[in-house]
Amino acid sequence: MSDKPDGSILQRDKETYAIVPRTPAGVLSLEFIEKLAEVVRRYEIPITKITSGHRLALVGLKKEQIDQVWNDLGADIGRATELCLHYVQACPGNQVCSLGVQDSLGMGIELEKRYVGLEMPAKLKVGVSGCPMTCSEGYVRDIGLIGKRSGWVVTYGGNSGGRPRIADVIAEELSGDATLALVDKLVAFYRENGKKRERVARMVERLGIDEVKAAVL
Ligand code: SF4
Repeated sequence: MSDKPDGSILQRDKETYAIVPRTPAGVLSLEFIEKLAEVVRRYEIPITKITSGHRLALVGLKKEQIDQVWNDLGADIGRATELCLHYVQACPGNQVCSLGVQDSLGMGIELEKRYVGLEMPAKLKVGVSGCPMTCSEGYVRDIGLIGKRSGWVVTYGGNSGGRPRIADVIAEELSGDATLALVDKLVAFYRENGKKRERVARMVERLGIDEVKAAVL
């Protein structure tokens, strides 16, 4: 059994660790920012980085510092490498962006709350955009939501990795509640049908998008 501290990732030097505190939809409160600055200074953390998925990584921690850093941050452990929801990316949407037509930030935070900690066949990444510009890249995420004036578009099976895949559109013109209900079904379908370590894109290729649609619509 690994003696790796909970929520930590051993770095390539095989001595230091990274941790990824949860920052739902990339939103940071002033209180958290102040705690973060204190922690980085106190433990002389060499690298503090925003990841490509809007996550926050503290890199270069010594093993014996990790529990104390979690405690001082007062943050929930972010699962960075396990088979679960890794992140929900969400753009500012109509709360801030002049082009936004849907509340992507509120939707992103709600989705993260629903699925954080649930076991998945592989990692799950979600992108929520407040308008068709699709800044949160939903067409290359396992699950994507794109806001239009007429409602939400839901996409499934995208991937931006080494074998990229453009997601299929599952439904359009959905209300917020209908979107949440459909995403619940898409997550459940993946949990039931995905093989271990198989991303949604590969599962959709194996089963066919029509089988997915027949199960969730
Ligand atoms: S997707 Fe639209 S609402 Fe979101 S940041 Fe981009 S332009 Fe703004």
